[in-house]
Amino acid sequence: MSTSANTLHNATAAWREADRKHHLHPFTDAAGLAKEGGPRIIVKAEGNFLTDSEGQQILDGMAGLWCVNVGYGRKELAEAAYNQMLELPYYNTFFKTATPPAIELAEKLAQITPEGLEHVFYGSSGSESNDTVVRMVRHFWNLKGKREKKVIISREYAYHGSTCASASLGGMTAMHEQADLPIPGIEHVMPPYWYDFGKGMDKDLFGRMAAKAVEDKILELGADKVAAFIAEPIMGAGGVIVPPESYWPEIQRICKKHDVLLVADEVICGFGRTGEWFASQTLDIKPDLMTMAKGITSGYLPLSGLMVGNRVAEALSEGGEFFHGYTYSGHPVACAVALKNIEIIEREGLVDKVREETGPYLQEGLRSLSDHPLVGEARGLGLFGAVELVKDKETHERHEKNLATLTCRKHCIESGLMLRQVRDSMICSPPLTFEKVHVDELVSKLRGALDATAKELGAA
Ligand code: PMP
Repeated sequence: MSTSANTLHNATAAWREADRKHHLHPFTDAAGLAKEGGPRIIVKAEGNFLTDSEGQQILDGMAGLWCVNVGYGRKELAEAAYNQMLELPYYNTFFKTATPPAIELAEKLAQITPEGLEHVFYGSSGSESNDTVVRMVRHFWNLKGKREKKVIISREYAYHGSTCASASLGGMTAMHEQADLPIPGIEHVMPPYWYDFGKGMDKDLFGRMAAKAVEDKILELGADKVAAFIAEPIMGAGGVIVPPESYWPEIQRICKKHDVLLVADEVICGFGRTGEWFASQTLDIKPDLMTMAKGITSGYLPLSGLMVGNRVAEALSEGGEFFHGYTYSGHPVACAVALKNIEIIEREGLVDKVREETGPYLQEGLRSLSDHPLVGEARGLGLFGAVELVKDKETHERHEKNLATLTCRKHCIESGLMLRQVRDSMICSPPLTFEKVHVDELVSKLRGALDATAKELGAA
């Protein structure tokens, strides 16, 4: 080992030790991590590649955590932050004040988001903005004099964040169990997860059945009690679940019929991932409210927003003070970075590139893995995909305790590919700067990892 490699190696050991002693990681089994010797430490990234503290180069098939849409190492974003910090590092938007970046970004967002969404309420994370949804929806129906119309319907396997209200909106039972959630007033119905719930059924028929689950819940509770339905256009953390084509038209018909607000959570789908600025445009969804985060700054700084449709915005504007907001709502540095980030996406034509070139190419690549003995289904849209692993392709029987995906993930990372595992699926969501060569590398490394997994499971 050379001297510098040695130095890095020693630094890694010291970081791991300090991490174990002092750092509590999100969504991590601390004892399990300590047993494995501590975390992989990412020290640098450029373009589509990460570098860890041992010098390994890793292709980032997840864009960080579904967010680094323009890739790493963008000097322009660093300069936008630097210049804004020198000009005005912080000012709030509470007491009849605003800052130029917050205003200019609001105007830009109104242009690129679906028609009818003209106003933004800022936060700093997807969780915060989904909390704002709960606050705003309740306030809206109070203003309308319908104080009973309060229940928000969501779906099993949904992910809407980790605060008490957003985790309640989510459909992750493990999260609910640890914190006595959901909070009152939130109900969950089945997701449009055809591969798991619709086995053997016509896909569109299943899509209508999954939508009917929402209507059944509305009828069970009474439409006068139901305030809103919230959903990710394509479910992300729940396993990249792309609904059948029949699902969203039915959902919209049902929400309209029962006067239930439709909330699209575009925290993952937004900013180009599906080949339009927002998946609501790809899937022809017209939400009343829409949350976004992550790709808004490509993860370079924390920022989120709730786009508010005209119906709700009008009621709010006539409803007196809305007692809600965050210190960092409309943070000027984050907004300046978001503006530059959107400019880069536009200038480099990244949305069109996903729609016309790399998105279809990734989908073809993932589907080419369907012949692998472990692969039950390959699915996705744009630069957003999943490969679901099974023990038996006929019966869809899964491996115990997510053994196949946990093993596969280990082999992916060992071979220099960062992918994520969700239950029985391997998930990818790469930067929009992926070229076809990067897709090729992702698919071939994933195939290699699947082969290694099959061998390891076979030998077990
Ligand atoms: N909504 C969706 C659809 C998400 O995927 C996430 C995070 N993965 C969130 C909300 C929460 O965002 P944050 O972690 O920024 O709070």
